[in-house]
Amino acid sequence: MTTFLIRGARIVDGDPTDLIIRDGVIAETGPNLTGGPGAEVIDADGLVALPGLVDLHTHLREPGREDAETVESGSRAAALGGYTAVCAMANTSPVADTAGVVEQVWRLGRTAGLVDVQPIGAVTVGLGGEQLAELGAMADSAAQVRIFSDDGHCVADPRLMRRALEYVRAFDGVIAQHAEEPRLTDGAQMHEGITSARLGLPGWPAVAEEAIIARDVLLAEHVGARLHVCHVSTAGSVEILRWAKARGIAVTAEVTPHHLLLTDTRADGYDPVFKVNPPLRTGADVDALQAALVDGVIDVVATDHAPHAVQDKECEWPYARPGMLGLETALSVVWLAVGHRLGWDGVAERLSRAPARIAGLTEHGHDPAPGRAATFTLVDPAARWTVDPAGLASRSRNTPYAGLDLPVRVVATFLRGEPTVVDGKAVR
Ligand SMILES: [Zn+2]
Repeated sequence: MTTFLIRGARIVDGDPTDLIIRDGVIAETGPNLTGGPGAEVIDADGLVALPGLVDLHTHLREPGREDAETVESGSRAAALGGYTAVCAMANTSPVADTAGVVEQVWRLGRTAGLVDVQPIGAVTVGLGGEQLAELGAMADSAAQVRIFSDDGHCVADPRLMRRALEYVRAFDGVIAQHAEEPRLTDGAQMHEGITSARLGLPGWPAVAEEAIIARDVLLAEHVGARLHVCHVSTAGSVEILRWAKARGIAVTAEVTPHHLLLTDTRADGYDPVFKVNPPLRTGADVDALQAALVDGVIDVVATDHAPHAVQDKECEWPYARPGMLGLETALSVVWLAVGHRLGWDGVAERLSRAPARIAGLTEHGHDPAPGRAATFTLVDPAARWTVDPAGLASRSRNTPYAGLDLPVRVVATFLRGEPTVVDGKAVR
């Protein structure tokens, strides 16, 4: 294994220091280090070293839709975005609702070797919302699943949600809920409000999310289990979460980069690249989500990276699949939206430490320090770059940020001492 000497990086928001990476771990930090013969030197003057980012919500599309993304291409996109671990959502084809499928995804991740791919198991068989999947068998499998989600669908039946929460308690699992009361969003195309009325598109009301979150925090309290709320998108949801946390309920929540930046007025022009579920909301919602991420009511940023093939996205709005790419732009978009309020320590907490804790990924989410696995990313806070969809590593092109000038660039990413990204390029 190559030894690396990294010169002059700031670890999160500390003073510049050198780091020696040897045998997969950070051997030493301090001023004026020498790496010894054969050490590869990386000049990190002005760069920030963050714990490798961890994404709780990634759609990798394999098995089933390898035309849109594979475990390998999605892993490459993740590494380029500064990630060292991603949690792969269960809505593949076949659905990841058995030990066999989650082990398949886990093995594909190991083979790609660019990030740790931690499969999420489905809560219900086939995401059908009627019968619990083999949660215990997935937990006991080689993939050691701890997060379960029917994401894309809500576990709408309260009795089934209660049983799922009770079941995962035994192995400290967590149910990640896509909060959407389906009877309130039948046929919905975008956020229900002034813009949907003007455009004549059926609306997805905020209350459809808020009603499920309110119900589920009460269920989690009642059975004493952990609940995680996916992609929180409304100001009202933030208030329910604030109440639940103050009450001591074991709930955590995520927000996506796009919900921190974009509003429903992007639907003007009917460009389906802005169609996403939950939909883009109002400016007041964006303000509330930003504030909640800064004050900790929302624990983490998760990308909801949702690659789609061209024919599924470049069509009329009502026929387009919901979802946006996220892995390669997440850090930059978060910095653009709330970087000045979060600072690098806040970024490390919301994009690495907290998601690693929620997922139980004990090898991830640690600031670079002697004795720790060399699993981190080096970012250039002064760099700017322009998003070119054709230049992305994802197999899909559905980024809502095409042509946007963004701050912060990932320069290098290391996974257990092996570089996955060098000079802003994937090593393989
Ligand atoms: Zn979802």
